[in-house]
Amino acid sequence: LKSELLQEGQENSREGGAVAVAVVAAEAEAEKKSKVVLCARCHSLRHYGHVKRPDAEVLLPDFDFVAAVGPRLASPSGARSLVLLLADASDFDGSFPRAVARLVAVTSEAHHADWKRGAPSNLPRAVLVVTKLDLLPTPSLSPDDVHAWAQARARAGAGADLQLAGVHLVSAARGWGVRDLLNHVREVAGARGKVWAVGARNVGKSTLLNAIARCSGAESGQTLTEAPVPGTTLGVIRVDGVLGAQAKLFDTPGLLHGHQLTSRLTPEELKLVQVRKEMRPRTYRIKAGQSIHIGGLVRLDVEDLTVGSIYVTVWASPLVPLHMGKTENAESMMKDHFGLQLQPPIGQKRVKELGKWVRKQFKVSGNSWDANTMDIAISGLGWYGIGLKGEAVLGLWTYDGVDVVPRSSLV
Ligand code: GDP
Repeated sequence: LKSELLQEGQENSREGGAVAVAVVAAEAEAEKKSKVVLCARCHSLRHYGHVKRPDAEVLLPDFDFVAAVGPRLASPSGARSLVLLLADASDFDGSFPRAVARLVAVTSEAHHADWKRGAPSNLPRAVLVVTKLDLLPTPSLSPDDVHAWAQARARAGAGADLQLAGVHLVSAARGWGVRDLLNHVREVAGARGKVWAVGARNVGKSTLLNAIARCSGAESGQTLTEAPVPGTTLGVIRVDGVLGAQAKLFDTPGLLHGHQLTSRLTPEELKLVQVRKEMRPRTYRIKAGQSIHIGGLVRLDVEDLTVGSIYVTVWASPLVPLHMGKTENAESMMKDHFGLQLQPPIGQKRVKELGKWVRKQFKVSGNSWDANTMDIAISGLGWYGIGLKGEAVLGLWTYDGVDVVPRSSLV
C-alpha cells in the first residue's frame, strides 16, 4: 500500500509530497503504538481474500497450509510445532480446518512410529479452539458436553486418529477462556516451540489473536511485529512477544472453504446469514409431507414417518426467514419466492448463480421426545435439530457442493 501510495503520489506530482508525508506520519504513528497496523484493504485481502472495491474485486487463491507449512511440521527434530485448529461454535463442521487436522494426525503418527524405532522425534501437537462460544445458548449447555462433542466432531472432521493436546472453548468477544488458552499454549509449545493458528475465513482468528496478544501484553508489555515467512503466497504473519522470548506464534491467512454456503454469498447476503448474537431456536412440529425452508438456501422434507409427527428446530441467523408448508408446493415456492420473500439469495437471478439444487436423504430413528436425536448441519448456515420417537426418512435440499453433515446433536 505504501509503494502504491508513493507511486500514485509521484504520478500526481503536486500531491506527491503530501502523500509521502502522510505515509511517514502513518508509519511513525504505527511505530508509536507498537502494534501491527493493517489498512482496511490489507485486512480485507488477508481475511476475506478479496479487495472490497466494487470496481476491482480481485479474488485470491486459497492459502495452501499443507504445502506451505506441512514440511515444517514434518521436521522430525528441532522446535516443537503446535497447530491451533480453530472452529466456529456456530458452524463447527463447516469451519473446522479438516485438511490441516488430517495433516497433523498423519504427521504425528509417522513421528510416533519413528520414535518407537528409536529415531529422534518431536511430535507436532494440535489444540482445538472452539471460537465464538457466546453464540451458543450457553446457559442450557454443559461445558463438559460441548467439550466432548467438539472433540468427537474434530476427530470425525480429520477422518484420522487426531490426538488433541487440549480442547478450549473460547469467546474472544467476551474474553472467555482466552487466558487459559494462552497459558496452555505456552506450556505445550515450550520455550522454543512454533505455534500455527489455522482457521477458515471469518472463524474469529484475528479477534482471538488480538485478545491473546492483549492478554499477554498486559503481563509482559511486549509488542507485536510482523515478519513474512518466505514461500507463502498470502503471507504468514509472525506475532512476536506473545509466547515468550523464543517461542513463535504464526498467524496464517484464513482458509477458503468452498463447502461453506457463506463462500458463495454476496456481502449483503452474508449480513443476513452470519450469526452475531446468541442463537435462538425456532421449533416446529411437523408431519410427513411437510417441509421447512431456511430462506432460499435449504429445505428439509419429511418424506416418511412411522409416527404422527416430529420436532424440527432450526438454528440459524434470526435474519433468515423460515417457511413451513406442504412439500407438494415446494417447487412453486422456489420458482415464485426464492430471492424475494425467501432471502438470501437476494434477487431471483442469484438462485441460479448459487448452483444446482440437489437432495440428500437421511434415515433417522430416535426414542425420545426430550432430547434431539440428531442434527443435520448445513456448512456456513446452521443446523436442523431433529427430535423424534420412531423412524423418519428426511430429504435435505440445498445447492450442489454445500456440505450437509449428519451429526450427534449439540443442543
Ligand atoms: P477471521 O476472518 O477469522 O480473522 O475473523 P474475525 O476475527 O475478523 O471475525 C469474524 C467475525 O466474527 C467478525 O464479525 C467478528 O466480530 C466476529 N467474532 C469474532 N470473534 C467473536 C466472538 O468471540 N463472538 C462473537 N459473537 N463474534 C465474534
